[in-house]
Amino acid sequence: MGRTRLSILREAIANLTRRPSTIKYPVAREVTVAPGSRGRQYADLMKCIGCSLCAIDCPANAIVMEKLPEPLKHNPRGVFPVVDYGKCIFCYQCVFVCPVKAYITTEAFELADYSTFTSRESSLSTIASGGSK
Ligand code: SF4
Ligand code: SF4
Repeated sequence: MGRTRLSILREAIANLTRRPSTIKYPVAREVTVAPGSRGRQYADLMKCIGCSLCAIDCPANAIVMEKLPEPLKHNPRGVFPVVDYGKCIFCYQCVFVCPVKAYITTEAFELADYSTFTSRESSLSTIASGGSK
């Protein structure tokens, strides 16, 4: 049964006094996300073995394997994954497929930038001092 005009009118009047359901983002910054939301992810290079599985499996072709700037003894291939967040659809297939659980996951979602934003710097920052051979 359809709604009566009277019920629609009542709801319209009630909505005039309710707080908005939306927020003025990005002016209002108090944005919360549900725990476990899929945000920015990057590989921990102290775990990554350079197998390339994440890059092969990525449905958005968002991962490119790049040469490591320094040798890591557990990574004989000498390459690591760089995620292009402009292409990533945050399906987390890379996280699930990684055989050594190398991906660090976050709930960070504010990724807009004027330049290309990738996981390169975050991943390189995981190389602990003394990690190279
Ligand atoms: S989350 Fe999905 S789309 Fe993004 S890099 Fe990983 S596999 Fe590719
Ligand atoms: S699947 Fe894991 S170990 Fe393999 S390249 Fe990707 S992050 Fe590194």
